[in-house]
Amino acid sequence: MRTPIIAGNWKLFKKCCDAQDFVAKLIPLVQKTSDVEIVIAPVFTVLSTVKQAIAGSNIKLSAQDCFWEEEGAFTGEISPGMLVDAGCSHVIIGHSERRQYFGETDETVNRKIKAAIAAGLTVLFCIGETLAERETDKTFEVLRTQVENGLAGLARDDLAKVVIAYEPVWAIGTGKTATDEQAQVAHAFIRKVVGELFTVQLAEAIRILYGGSVKPENVRGLMNQPDIDGALVGGASLKADSFGAIVNYK
Ligand code: PGA
Repeated sequence: MRTPIIAGNWKLFKKCCDAQDFVAKLIPLVQKTSDVEIVIAPVFTVLSTVKQAIAGSNIKLSAQDCFWEEEGAFTGEISPGMLVDAGCSHVIIGHSERRQYFGETDETVNRKIKAAIAAGLTVLFCIGETLAERETDKTFEVLRTQVENGLAGLARDDLAKVVIAYEPVWAIGTGKTATDEQAQVAHAFIRKVVGELFTVQLAEAIRILYGGSVKPENVRGLMNQPDIDGALVGGASLKADSFGAIVNYK
């Protein structure tokens, strides 16, 4: 059985006070939730504040990106070991906004994934097709390439530290969620590709999250799909009550 994960990606939102308020409101809403892994991903500057605020709770801490070198002359970067030091157990890698605006490529994603796993982090590895790619029937080809390149060179044991997040770019922040069926088809395909690259058993065990305009109103239908194991939530993760409702989708 795959334990579901509901992860909140705060993107470039929330300074310390806001983050503290959010966690204080979220904890009572989710403290009885035991069968869902709950993760929040604030900006780097708020990690230590959130680490203190979630202490003793069932909420885990993620960063939104990291570099692949552990230390050195790399002004402005943050290494995976530094994220562990700051209290993170997870890191998002390869989000489409990083691919789109910050020059992230499949190759840099792959280097980051390897470094993050080596540091002991669980990676939320994001993939997804654009609208143009979907409309020209390239969805499967794009997903296959992203999975193959992103996971290239990983050992079978490494896969336990990888969670894939399927986020169709056209559904992110647009209010347009993929239908339950569209998402299921993509997730089943991704699982098949992981099975081809590794083993069928590992493909069965890996968790694949859906991301793209997930809200309290649509989470249940998505989570009912056999290959959807959770959600990576942007906009609706910014309010404790809506994020709490998504966590408690059952
Ligand atoms: P959204 O973002 O829920 O606001 O669409 C999801 C994401 O980008 O991770």
